Amino acid sequence: MPASLPPEFDNKLRTIARNHNRYLVWIVGVWFILTVAGLKISQTQRTLGFSILGGSLVVPLGGVLLVSRWAKKQSVAMDFTCPLCGESLYVPPHTRLLTRGECPHCKQPVIEALKQKSA
Ligand SMILES: [Zn+2]
Repeated sequence: MPASLPPEFDNKLRTIARNHNRYLVWIVGVWFILTVAGLKISQTQRTLGFSILGGSLVVPLGGVLLVSRWAKKQSVAMDFTCPLCGESLYVPPHTRLLTRGECPHCKQPVIEALKQKSA
């Protein structure tokens, strides 16, 4: 049976996830534009075109790292943290938290503790 978060925490999860996904869409968009531009430029100016293509790889790699750090900070700022170990509960894809109701870090059941926290 899937675990259900108290509404307050469910909302926090959704808010962070929405912003997180928006950032990811931006990253993919910027990467796509750079890749297309790099390919196009490489037809006439090989070195410049391939430099752009190579450089564009930094966008998804660095971007995803930055965004996941941002999401972690954001979840701490919003108090979306484990009441038992204090770590962020925002660890996509949230399988452990949402199916078993366990903290992704300390792996202890947190739903009851969260209910008490929001009460
Ligand atoms: Zn924990």
